[in-house]
Amino acid sequence: MSGSAGRDAGQVAGGRLIECCPVGCSDTLAETTIVLPEGPLRRCLACGQLVSQITATAYAGSMKEFDTPRGTLPTPRTQRRHDARAAKLFGKVKALIRPESGTGARLLDIGCSSGALLRSAMTHGFDAEGVEPAAQAAEFAKSTELKVFHGYLEEARFPASSFDGVTLMEVIEHLPDPTALLREVWRVLKPNGVLVVGTGNGASWTVRLVGARWGYFQVAEHGGHISFFNPMSLAALAQRCGFDVERSETRRVSLVEPHEAGWVTYRMLKVVAEVLAMPARLFGRGHDMLVFLRKSSR
Ligand SMILES: [Zn+2]
Repeated sequence: MSGSAGRDAGQVAGGRLIECCPVGCSDTLAETTIVLPEGPLRRCLACGQLVSQITATAYAGSMKEFDTPRGTLPTPRTQRRHDARAAKLFGKVKALIRPESGTGARLLDIGCSSGALLRSAMTHGFDAEGVEPAAQAAEFAKSTELKVFHGYLEEARFPASSFDGVTLMEVIEHLPDPTALLREVWRVLKPNGVLVVGTGNGASWTVRLVGARWGYFQVAEHGGHISFFNPMSLAALAQRCGFDVERSETRRVSLVEPHEAGWVTYRMLKVVAEVLAMPARLFGRGHDMLVFLRKSSR
């Protein structure tokens, strides 16, 4: 996780961290029926963005979990799934970048944590480096000889037009104001460069079916999750920051978290979720969202 999270000055300690739509709409945020421990999620009436009512203090506390040496390294059990997802991701990025040199395209992973995705990017032929504000995770990555800047993207002061591609995976849902980060990504990308954003889909069937029970909404489980995009709100943000949507995809439906049901019920609901996954993907209603953006000239 990375970006400008936690740095927004002027937040009053007991007040709400987010007071207006992070996408930049001027419409009202209306309370929804999705009630979390922090209060009901609020929805932007213009773009459908969902935002938490968490306080600045509670948010800062929940972000501390990212600063561990292991960061987001896959475990032996999740390594194969990580590798398979990375292969698909970088295959798509390569197809969109089409670097004239063939290999060695420059890629920046923002919020690289301990470097799992960076390592995969290098395996797939990218000249990759990362940015990570959590000190221990960044130190770990550097100790494995990965090229990582410890700090926020804006502090790294990369020259303009440095990168062919930027990945922003599971970062944007942590940011009270994602606009500043996306504008800086725009600056460091080469003309026609590609930005990939991976985040949860607040307009998914999972949200429709399980509401407040969706694990992704739980700040106790997923520290710093405060802002939930959907394909429309992400496209609106992208456009405001100088990007065009090249492709947008969603996947997966979830009806139950493992701790919520007995084994038999859990397995049955898993099967139903798997049946729903295909139409969810077709209709853009899966809960994992991956959006490929192209830097537009402006
Ligand atoms: Zn909005």
